[in-house]
Amino acid sequence: MKQSQKNKSDWQQFLSGVPARDYIFQNIPYEEQIRKASEWIEHAETILIGAGAGASAAAGLTYSGKRFTDNFSEFIEKYGSMYMTDMYAAGFYPFPAQEAKWGYWSKHSMLNRFEPPALPLYKQLYDIVKEKDYFVLTTNVDYQFQKAGFKQERIFATQGDYGNIQCEKGCHDKVYEAEELFRKMDQARQDCLIPSHLVPKCPVCGGNMTMHLRCDEYFVEDENWHAAVAHYFDFVRGMEGKTAVLLELGVGFNTPTIIRFPFEKMVRENKKFSLLRLNLNEAFVPESFGSRAIGIGGDMAKAIGEMHQQQKHLKGL
Ligand SMILES: [Zn+2]
Repeated sequence: MKQSQKNKSDWQQFLSGVPARDYIFQNIPYEEQIRKASEWIEHAETILIGAGAGASAAAGLTYSGKRFTDNFSEFIEKYGSMYMTDMYAAGFYPFPAQEAKWGYWSKHSMLNRFEPPALPLYKQLYDIVKEKDYFVLTTNVDYQFQKAGFKQERIFATQGDYGNIQCEKGCHDKVYEAEELFRKMDQARQDCLIPSHLVPKCPVCGGNMTMHLRCDEYFVEDENWHAAVAHYFDFVRGMEGKTAVLLELGVGFNTPTIIRFPFEKMVRENKKFSLLRLNLNEAFVPESFGSRAIGIGGDMAKAIGEMHQQQKHLKGL
């Protein structure tokens, strides 16, 4: 077994802890939540950000509705609206050939990874924490944190990157940057298919390649990925004894063992840690955390924008 596969579950088990059983929606006025959240961040010695799909959806990278139907009408028509319901479902479509698979994924990557600039939500977030000792743990694969200015060595993107490809069978621990290839595919695509000569092959085993996304046991954890795990653990160890805010953004229950449960465990076990949870519909927080938790529901873009303003106010800018 490869080293990376042997270690596969370790980092997730490192901190996963017991899920909270005492979730409540707080009865605190929204303005007071924003004010308090901004003060917490201002006074925190260290900030650990955990971001899930909800953060990028709030930033504008929505995977369903008009943004999907406008951009993928050709694919919906070809493969059927029963399967092509949104960009999550579309990614799991059993494409009949490599030309079809890359025809879809090159489009998906262009739209979600390469074309969008750093979006306002991410830029404001960076502005809020840039002078702090921060770290980002994210399940998002759209590169928004890096685009907004967050330092690469302060980011651990656990689930991959839409910009990279790997051997479909993970035969070797390397990922390959695919921007140029995706741009060529995007130019050459006809009837949702890319020409055969653009289909990438594994340089080691000669087999098919796939997106660098964690969706099966063949996900490649390369050198950079392992370095990021180490940076994350170092940061978490360094938080000990400090006043920390754990800022959780748009994290649902899809993979709660990566961000949600570990964050709750850390706050439960450290009296100087606070949990700041921003979530569209699931902004409930453990009641037992008392005043060490704030759960802000609704539009996260609005909340981050207001916290950004509030911070300027607190700094007298
Ligand atoms: Zn291979």
